[in-house]
Amino acid sequence: MIAFDPELIRRYDQPAPRYTSYPTATHFRDDFRETSYREQVASSNEDPIPRPLSLYVHIPFCFSPCFYCGCHRLIVHPKRATAEGAEYLRRLIREIELQASLFDPGREVVQLHLGGGTPTFLDDANLARLVEGIGRAFRLAREEDRDFSIEVDPRTVTPERIALLADLGFNRLSLGVQDFDPEVQLAVNRIQPVETVASLLATARAVGFVSINLDLIYGLPNQTRDSFARTLEQVVALRPNRLAVYGYAHLPQRFAAQRHIPAEALPDPETRLALLAIAVERLTEAGYRYIGMDHFALPEDELARAFEGGRLHRNFNGYSTHPECALVGLGLSSIGFVGDAYAQNTRSLSRYYEAIDQGRLAIERGLVLSEEDHLRRTIIQDIMCRDEIRFEAYERRFDIVFAERFGAELKRLAELERDGLIELGASGFRILPRGRLLLRAIARCFDAYLADQRVAPLPRHSRII
Ligand code: SF4
Repeated sequence: MIAFDPELIRRYDQPAPRYTSYPTATHFRDDFRETSYREQVASSNEDPIPRPLSLYVHIPFCFSPCFYCGCHRLIVHPKRATAEGAEYLRRLIREIELQASLFDPGREVVQLHLGGGTPTFLDDANLARLVEGIGRAFRLAREEDRDFSIEVDPRTVTPERIALLADLGFNRLSLGVQDFDPEVQLAVNRIQPVETVASLLATARAVGFVSINLDLIYGLPNQTRDSFARTLEQVVALRPNRLAVYGYAHLPQRFAAQRHIPAEALPDPETRLALLAIAVERLTEAGYRYIGMDHFALPEDELARAFEGGRLHRNFNGYSTHPECALVGLGLSSIGFVGDAYAQNTRSLSRYYEAIDQGRLAIERGLVLSEEDHLRRTIIQDIMCRDEIRFEAYERRFDIVFAERFGAELKRLAELERDGLIELGASGFRILPRGRLLLRAIARCFDAYLADQRVAPLPRHSRII
């Protein structure tokens, strides 16, 4: 599935979007507001078969800063947590009601994802109120058809809290681990012993969670080949169903918390590459399938099966098995995709509260996709989620002749073929093992928003590896 070629990776390791959306959020426009969003929802309700719904709910608060973090989050002292959580939840439930009133009541919620920040920042009572609020406002799919997931910071939960999450209807869990080495944990201000995570996993399995994901990060301060290999051994022994292995992007000029990480504590580029190689080797040896950018899954996991069956999909939450859904973003800074448009809520807590208190949605920017955007978005999605791209699928759906429309892109693909990333034919291309870790480099060939495809510095984006 993956061939690890350090020389090739070094050559292609340039900044590139992660393509959780296309166009990327940097191209959203400030003149997309609530009225534009309402128009999109109304027109999506008129579709011959309106799409079911996937809800993303953002809880922006955390108790303390992890120094590697690049998320939009607000640090709150534990003493203020109950009051702050209640204030936020009041607005969030109001927003849920406002959003639900826009959608045809027949449209079911088949997927729910609570992300952050730290969703388990909310205490048990507030988490229960949130789930009840969603259930009152929206029509939820039957229990067996639901995919309800939550991101969990192991430091904020006990086995009892994990059992409560199952009672509330969550059936998928994602735990942030990053690294089990005590020195690395100290350097990133996130202490969570392996025993804590193991006990939470055991409870999650006992109370019926069908899928458990662990997040790891390579390239963190103090990581060495040996320490990361030990972490991987511990992770493999825990046997999560899915794993995400992200590369740490050190951008201290953008993310203040990262200024606590001295550059000299970071692994050098050669070690960083070796850490990725160790992860790929150890996880594939342990039976995990590489399903796409940064993500691994056991062969029987639904994501791995969706990849095999060509049903994998990518959105702001990473990979998903629900390509047919409209995505409704709820909470501070959340992003949705409904009809033909992306829509993002404000990133300012005071403006979020103000909008909701006035009975308005807090949407402050977004983008209505053109036909060209749709076409390129579909191709880029397919590159991120499949191992074979067939041109006729786009010719039929978008009424184009692929070779005429994408002459320049085919030339760029020919360069990738010379480097062994893909095998290019007249009717499509196949992503080869040497290209699997470089999906972003292949996808960017179709990104019309990148000014110079060969040398664009793209300072806003992280490097591919
Ligand atoms: S990594 Fe997660 S828990 Fe840590 S500061 Fe960032 S959002 Fe909060």
